[in-house]
Amino acid sequence: MSHKKIRQGIIETCIEMNKSGLNQGTSGNLSHRIEGGMLITPTSLPYERMRNDDVVEMAFDGTVIGKHRPSSEWRFHRDILLKRTDVNVVLHTHSVYCTTLATHERGIPSFHYMVAVAGGSDIRCSPYACFGTQELSNLALEALKDRTACLLGHHGLIVLADTFEKAMWRAIEIETLAKMYVHALAIGEPPHLSEKEMAQVIEQMRRMGYGQAPDLDKVKDTPKLMSAKPAVSEVPKSKPEKPARQYPKLVKAKTTSVQTTKAQTIKVDTSAQGKIAAKPAAKAASSTKPAVKPATPKRAPKAAAAPKTKAPKAAAPKVTAKKPAAVKKATAAKKPAAAQGTPAASVSSTSFKSLVGSALNRRK
Ligand SMILES: [Zn+2]
Repeated sequence: MSHKKIRQGIIETCIEMNKSGLNQGTSGNLSHRIEGGMLITPTSLPYERMRNDDVVEMAFDGTVIGKHRPSSEWRFHRDILLKRTDVNVVLHTHSVYCTTLATHERGIPSFHYMVAVAGGSDIRCSPYACFGTQELSNLALEALKDRTACLLGHHGLIVLADTFEKAMWRAIEIETLAKMYVHALAIGEPPHLSEKEMAQVIEQMRRMGYGQAPDLDKVKDTPKLMSAKPAVSEVPKSKPEKPARQYPKLVKAKTTSVQTTKAQTIKVDTSAQGKIAAKPAAKAASSTKPAVKPATPKRAPKAAAAPKTKAPKAAAPKVTAKKPAAVKKATAAKKPAAAQGTPAASVSSTSFKSLVGSALNRRK
């Protein structure tokens, strides 16, 4: 991605952070990896007034190019991007519910399976250290071990991701979890899912991230994606031709003969109802690979598999290769229609707005 696009992405994501209620004022900050350093929000500049050239370019050796000073939290942004070569984006905010828990120095335990969106069976909270300090950065790195998010004691939330979209998605999910946990605590500490149960969730999410249908216990009844022209034989037997009959007067149905595998010819509605039914299938048609085949074995490694720390100066990290666009598209297309609104390990940019929207609706 060009620096111009990254600068634009930083501004748009910051504005989105405030709009979504994740952040208030200029307390949050955001960075994105570039070769040998990062682009990071400037300190104390309202997001609405921020322009591309207000975003600060900072090399990992501390050199700054720009007309502003970088965010006061540049240390943990720099240290995280140096150590965590599996991520490109560091998002920090004082979102209300995460910070509420952090004021009690409490992380988010496995009270809900979605805690796994941060890559493990819990989301840790670091001990307190003053903002902007190296001590805070060190504590944050420790709390982020094998995770893509952590709370900072008496402070806020850090979220890591490979794209702005995923960072926002993850931050909203975690803020929602924090809200649910705070509410659950009103009637006492809820039971926690076991390590074994969380391992199952993580495996399920990993499989979905690879474009596989969720069928961990091998029931083999997962929905099959239909091709652009749906095979009539795949229509569930319990609902033969129902859509056409349900709304007979709205649209005069044009019918088309379709050959079934049992050598029968039946009539299928190709008017309005037929089109609605075929919509998800048409989307799926952009993928030519079989539904059950993993999108690609060469997916970016998870946090747990992240390489160990590189020497800061010697190894200026290169911009981590993103998942190829084609793979992303295939992954999205392979999800069953019913799963479109549910959080998954990977989010396409087109579904991002609706994810944010639905997460917000839950928050209200
Ligand atoms: Zn802060």
